[in-house]
Amino acid sequence: MVSELTASRLLSRRGVLWGASAALAGGLFAGSPRRVLAASATHKAKLGAAEITIVSDGVFTLPRSLVLPDKPDADIAALFKAHGAAVEIVAETNVTVVRNGPTLAVIDTGAGPDFMPTLGKFGDRLEEAGVKPDDVTHVIFTHAHADHFWGVIDPLGDGSRWPKAKHVMARVERDFWLVEGIEDKVPAFQKSMATGIQRRLKELATMITVAEPGAEVAPGIALVATPGHTPGHVSIVVRSGSEELVVLGDALTHAAVSFGAPDWRWGSDIDVDVAIKTRKALLDDLAARKVAIIGYHLPWPGLGRVERQGNAYRFVAS
Ligand SMILES: [Zn+2]
Repeated sequence: MVSELTASRLLSRRGVLWGASAALAGGLFAGSPRRVLAASATHKAKLGAAEITIVSDGVFTLPRSLVLPDKPDADIAALFKAHGAAVEIVAETNVTVVRNGPTLAVIDTGAGPDFMPTLGKFGDRLEEAGVKPDDVTHVIFTHAHADHFWGVIDPLGDGSRWPKAKHVMARVERDFWLVEGIEDKVPAFQKSMATGIQRRLKELATMITVAEPGAEVAPGIALVATPGHTPGHVSIVVRSGSEELVVLGDALTHAAVSFGAPDWRWGSDIDVDVAIKTRKALLDDLAARKVAIIGYHLPWPGLGRVERQGNAYRFVAS
């Protein structure tokens, strides 16, 4: 979690107000015009005829001991330096919204109010951007981890915050989190999150439609299997005309580690070896085809592409 001290250090180091620190920044920079903060938490792009909006849910830091427990400091420092990554592992939460004709699809939902104090801003920001809850036609999940799924719960009532939308999750993902004793099937630090995921999935049981990888779940929007981070993790392919965008979820999470050292073990992946295999195949394909990507935790707004670099890859922001 981000302490106030950490967040203020981040703010001063970056010298800008963005995303996640908006609430804190509101306190630290009392009197800052609200529209400045709001603008910095929303990014727009075009994909053919579709309009892509990326909205920040907030930011958090990941302890290195948790995600890279078995790597010597010197190796980490060298890799991070080569990729210009901050020493501290800072995770953005870049939520993708696709508007294409009558379709308004939300891909992942942020964390809601109950996971970390620095997250949970997506739902309100979407409304501030002019999207009413009933306007959302599809809610599509890459996976069910708290920072992607818990924001679906309506903070003012029961069920989904977007009650008229079709809610889609990969079948393998939904089924994984519903098994009895789920807390024993995840890394130790995810135990309480796992029971929270299961409780919310049961709460939304009648609303969630399951789908298989390959399925077109909304016009021009399809699931593609990218397992490992979670067993049923999918990325979302968005197509408009001849253009394509891959919304990665957590298949590639860190600009230095995921791209520059895709075979390093990443501590928040549930099936570490499958995740490595997925990353390598994905990077190879995305670099070859020069496809646009959005990474949920990549540097804000997470939009860019993959380029080969030596024996590995690098993230090129756009
Ligand atoms: Zn995540």
